[in-house]
Amino acid sequence: MSKHIVVIPGDGIGKEITDAAVKVLQKIDDKFHIGLTFETKDAGGTAYDKYGTPLPDDTVEAAKKADAVLFGAVGGDQWDDVEPSLRPERAVLGLRKALGLYVNLRPVKVSSVLAEYSPLKPDIVTGTDIVIVRELIGGIYFGDKCESEIHDGVERAWDLENYSVPEVQRITRFAMEAARKRRGKVTSVDKSNVLATSRLWRRTVIDVAKDYPDIVLNHYYVDNCAMQLALNPTQFDVIVTGNLFGDILSDEAAVLGGSIGMMPSASIGELTSLYEPIHGSAPDIAGQGIANPCATILSAAMLLRYSLDEDAAAAAIEAAVDKALADGWRTADLYKEGFKKADTHTMTDVVCQYI
Ligand code: ATP
Ligand code: MG
Repeated sequence: MSKHIVVIPGDGIGKEITDAAVKVLQKIDDKFHIGLTFETKDAGGTAYDKYGTPLPDDTVEAAKKADAVLFGAVGGDQWDDVEPSLRPERAVLGLRKALGLYVNLRPVKVSSVLAEYSPLKPDIVTGTDIVIVRELIGGIYFGDKCESEIHDGVERAWDLENYSVPEVQRITRFAMEAARKRRGKVTSVDKSNVLATSRLWRRTVIDVAKDYPDIVLNHYYVDNCAMQLALNPTQFDVIVTGNLFGDILSDEAAVLGGSIGMMPSASIGELTSLYEPIHGSAPDIAGQGIANPCATILSAAMLLRYSLDEDAAAAAIEAAVDKALADGWRTADLYKEGFKKADTHTMTDVVCQYI
């Protein structure tokens, strides 16, 4: 049986980093005999230039049928003047919607090797191993909006936050299952002292947790959670939260590791799931062959784990990346004197070798 992966390189360094991840996946396939097949599709500014749309139907259709989607990055300032509905970033929102990607997963793992790149003190951050589970297609980002309303000469705008019990149940179950495969702890984040949606959120999480007596559940208000992430990040295992709080906390958590070039992500859906690095298209270094491919390679590991159930293959990639770093290989973004400098190709080859 074969597994079909749609690769969407996008713009900027997108092609360099997805090429690297595909090479690693091919190496994995040689070893684990998964039967991976690949197909490349356009999206982002590159697609806009070719077809006048950042997300061609053909790309959406292929993605819907795929076992998983590997995504690079989109965007670049040459498309700044394009009208908002046709900007490259629309491709990401469009795919989220078309594929029903309801959960965004952001792991943050800080080994002793990476701790020196963190803005936190090494003794505080070393050993951090968190997965943030963010609800991705509900909440305030998708509620009713008013751009501008004038009453008695005063202009205002508003966004409506809105969550239903089934939406919260679904994301909570996902977090509980994820915690079962990890250290068995879930922290739910809300603002239930102020918001009605958060009170519904907390009540629903507590309810769902009754089906998971093996999981230790605790609750933080979002402001306290933001503080705890900086004070004591090793206390967390799985964090589950809504769209807005998750957006903010995942960027805060990502910075703990010190390098966006190392951070993978997954967006899980009902039809299929999409895997991409958290960083953007890095137009400033595009085409130079120096981008750090690890975030995309680690996203490919998540693809194996969450879409193909190939846990051993995923772990092999993660171990190979760890070993490359432990052996002193560093791409330009992480390079310091005394280390072995690697361009995108070299880093990819080293990882393939260690697999
Ligand atoms: P976006 O709006 O798409 O998030 P951005 O401009 O906020 O884009 P990035 O494209 O992620 O951010 O780039 C931010 C900085 O990080 C840039 O200087 C870029 O070169 C650097 N960077 C991003 N990804 C990588 C990578 N994989 N390897 C090396 N440097 C990177
Ligand atoms: Mg950005």
